[in-house]
Amino acid sequence: MENVLVKVEDLKLYYPVAGKRIGTKEYVKAVDGVSFEIMEGEVFGIVGESGCGKSTLGRAVCKLEKPTAGKIVLDGEDISGYNDKQMRSVRKKVQMIFQDPYASLNPRMSVFDIIAEPLVIHKLTKTKEETEARVLDLLRKVGLDDYHANRYPHEFSGGQRQRIGIARALAVEPKLIIADEPVSALDVSIQAQVLNLLNQLKNEFNLTYIFVAHDLSVVEHISDRVGVMYLGNFVEVGDKKSLYANPLHPYTKALLSAVPVPDPTAKKDRVILEGNIPSALNPPTGCKFHTRCPNCMECCKTEAPKRYQVSENHYVYCHLYDDKIKS
Ligand code: SF4
Repeated sequence: MENVLVKVEDLKLYYPVAGKRIGTKEYVKAVDGVSFEIMEGEVFGIVGESGCGKSTLGRAVCKLEKPTAGKIVLDGEDISGYNDKQMRSVRKKVQMIFQDPYASLNPRMSVFDIIAEPLVIHKLTKTKEETEARVLDLLRKVGLDDYHANRYPHEFSGGQRQRIGIARALAVEPKLIIADEPVSALDVSIQAQVLNLLNQLKNEFNLTYIFVAHDLSVVEHISDRVGVMYLGNFVEVGDKKSLYANPLHPYTKALLSAVPVPDPTAKKDRVILEGNIPSALNPPTGCKFHTRCPNCMECCKTEAPKRYQVSENHYVYCHLYDDKIKS
């Protein structure tokens, strides 16, 4: 893990909505100035409650959603201003795996055609025989059999459909895969199989993942580094071990305290958050978490916290880590 594969700077994605007065516009700030880097071969997990902007961020990085502002550099290429045509050449480098494998597969196409489609579009194979050999190889790589090629998506279980989605994503030999809640629609036992498959493929193909999920245990299982999102911003980003063993932000602490532990007798101090996640249309001033934070101070209501580095690879956005405020 040496080279930076993805560099995102101050990325914003706002959705315009009709304002309260006729002719005016307001904005849902789904992603509100996010910056991060991902190294080649790394798995970067993005976690948070639904509506925090994590899926939108994943889609914005590969420009399935058009960012409002900010910079995206992928494999040394600044793709921020690229239009759809220019993005076509980049699509080979970055692929997505979606939450609902059934909805993301065309029900009228056979599995063979689904996996062959990107090979044909990107002209990656020259003959029919080559395409066939490649499709069958991809099926085997994701744990399916040759005879599955002639079947249709409705003939498969959820886990198998997700495997088909993974095979299609792998077809173009991408460098980066953005997996948006890839296991949340699956049974727990199947989740583990798909996570293990993703891990195995990552090593085999030297892949880099952005792994978006709301389940902290799933993210812990697969990620090297984790970013916790709240209302369109990261509140904490850290090395997995450091973040799970020593959460710093009050929101991360609350999320982790709610994760069930296998031992029912183990004591855990549960942090209960008051209220619901506020609207991204009209987010709170200052620290966006202040309306629910058990540690809220006066300054939190007006001043957005800066980024504080607490160890080599662990950052938090919270006034509690400002030496001037602490003293
Ligand atoms: Fe809580 Fe203030 Fe830290 Fe925000 S900045 S998380 S309100 S203590």
